[in-house]
Amino acid sequence: MDDYLKLPETFEEFSEARKNGFIRVKKIKEEGGLIAGVFCTYTPLEILDAAGLTAVGLCGMSNETIPAAESELPKNLCPLIKSSYGFALSDKCPYTYFSDIIIGETTCDGKKKMYELLGEIKDTYIIQLPQGQDRAYSAELWTKELRRLIRTLEEKFGVEITDEKLRSAVCLRNDERKAKTELMELSRLQPPPLRGLDLYKVLEGSGFVFDIAASAEAMQSTKRKALEKYEAGDRPVSKNAKRILVTGCPIGGVLEKTVGTIESSGGVVVCFENCGGVKATRELADAEADDIVQEISRRYLNIGCAIMTPNQNRVNLIRSLVDEYHIDGVVEILLQACHPYTVEAHTIRRLSSEIGMPYLGIETDYSNTDTGQLSTRIEAFMEML
Ligand code: SF4
Ligand code: SF4
Repeated sequence: MDDYLKLPETFEEFSEARKNGFIRVKKIKEEGGLIAGVFCTYTPLEILDAAGLTAVGLCGMSNETIPAAESELPKNLCPLIKSSYGFALSDKCPYTYFSDIIIGETTCDGKKKMYELLGEIKDTYIIQLPQGQDRAYSAELWTKELRRLIRTLEEKFGVEITDEKLRSAVCLRNDERKAKTELMELSRLQPPPLRGLDLYKVLEGSGFVFDIAASAEAMQSTKRKALEKYEAGDRPVSKNAKRILVTGCPIGGVLEKTVGTIESSGGVVVCFENCGGVKATRELADAEADDIVQEISRRYLNIGCAIMTPNQNRVNLIRSLVDEYHIDGVVEILLQACHPYTVEAHTIRRLSSEIGMPYLGIETDYSNTDTGQLSTRIEAFMEML
């Protein structure tokens, strides 16, 4: 196998996976494969898998493309939306470039309006996501939307999405989610065998491996190796490190200045509740369900993102995770101008106080201008713990 096509075996290789993924995507295209660009944890990946599409995450995590985006979008918009749009506008992201279709969902207002503009650059299909999980007709509407997506993909790409294909996609995705969950659950150990930064890079990198079964295996092997080292006495984290749960917005674009600073200030992130962490992997779908589309729909609609109202599932999840991971403090990371999460922060702060958890809310963007100020606040929080 060519070197660049090798699957990751170590933390470092996983963090390189995004870079190496470009070459894998190019190879998939050269061999006649189809690529679907995706942005959100609500994207029903099993449907894309069953259509024979390779799903690749397009979420912008770099400040570099924001000036280009600001030529068309308001400055006062979440950096994730601006960065993602900037990549498409400036043609700087090979994943966007290679996408045969982009799938978006009606989540927050900024994102769904950005998708309209994105549709002028690339073929973009929007799934209408209902935002009230407690209404019975939300489940019905979302299932209908998924059936509509299935028909659209079948017509557009001349493929047939059968129940068998969906069931086997559910099994593969379940295996991958279980492998991720088991890897994350290693951090329940005291001290944890992994730094949060390393763990996050593995989770993020796995999205650029593309072979789902191989990704699950690579994560199982990463888990085994980490555990072996731990049991042999190799402890990368001090037993006195304060155990932090990170929640809030997606953090790929602010990882170093948030998680990195927590971990250089006497803390260790043992649990990521946000997208990219537990929220995306905890719930599985039943591959044997009578109506497999309805089951996939149920699995995704339960995700507790702040765009839902009410969003009790997030509150319940944080409550459980605080116990399961023996948490000392909650850090909520908020991207500037993200209305769903910055408003819901009040609920999370109140929840933290109810369960006796110290809470720190950090509002930031993709620039480096607030690095010093963030360090001061995080260090003070860690000392207080
Ligand atoms: S935070 Fe919400 S809207 Fe953003 S990617 Fe996650 S699920 Fe989607
Ligand atoms: S972080 Fe907030 S504003 Fe940005 S895309 Fe996600 S939900 Fe929307």
